[in-house]
Amino acid sequence: MVNNWFNIIQDNLLPPTCILCGQHGFDSQDICHACFIDLKKNLCCCSRCAKILKTTQLKPLLCGACISQTPAFDGTYAPFIYQDVLAYLVTTLKFNHQYKNARLLGYLLADYLQKTAELPEIIIPVPLHPQRFRERGFNQSIEIAKSLSRHLNIPIDTQSCIRKRNTLHQIDLPARQRQSNMKQAFKVKQPMKARHIAILDDVMTTGSTVNELAKVLKQSGVNRVDIWVCGRA
Ligand SMILES: [Zn+2]
Ligand SMILES: [Zn+2]
Repeated sequence: MVNNWFNIIQDNLLPPTCILCGQHGFDSQDICHACFIDLKKNLCCCSRCAKILKTTQLKPLLCGACISQTPAFDGTYAPFIYQDVLAYLVTTLKFNHQYKNARLLGYLLADYLQKTAELPEIIIPVPLHPQRFRERGFNQSIEIAKSLSRHLNIPIDTQSCIRKRNTLHQIDLPARQRQSNMKQAFKVKQPMKARHIAILDDVMTTGSTVNELAKVLKQSGVNRVDIWVCGRA
């Protein structure tokens, strides 16, 4: 409730201003049209994991990794390529706790999903291990999910899944070690009632993290798991 009033007051009193260049925002958002155009769109990508493909074909294609081993998740929605403008928005959200970036990223993702995705029953933001959460004081995926949830009117579930192992930072590891680092990192506390779930993360690099979470959700009775991320690296 407080959050709603805060947003209403802010939307009415402060004109939307582009986070990136300070110009007037468009569509009541904190981004201007020129900076929105600068966001690199992920148009040619794997139909399963949204890995960026070097092709101009627009028909559905699978990447080599998805052909050799089918991921546990069913599809990935990643509207932007993780570089430049998007990388700035995500890293300043994560490390400088810029909440307005989360509101904008949630809006941009919602706008894309409304046009492209079959919407799930619940959204599960990728959980942080409690120790990591205490250190950082912040889970950027939850903050993006709050904005997304408001726009799409889909509830967030932060209770059913926990991170039981405090894994090493994926970014410090080579791709082949990322998969083993994530093994049994998550636990689903109770059987899931929802049949269709979307896992939300800020960025997808190799997909090992979301794949591990999708695996345990499927083992808990979920039929379909989609991955929603702002950007694909
Ligand atoms: Zn701008
Ligand atoms: Zn793929």
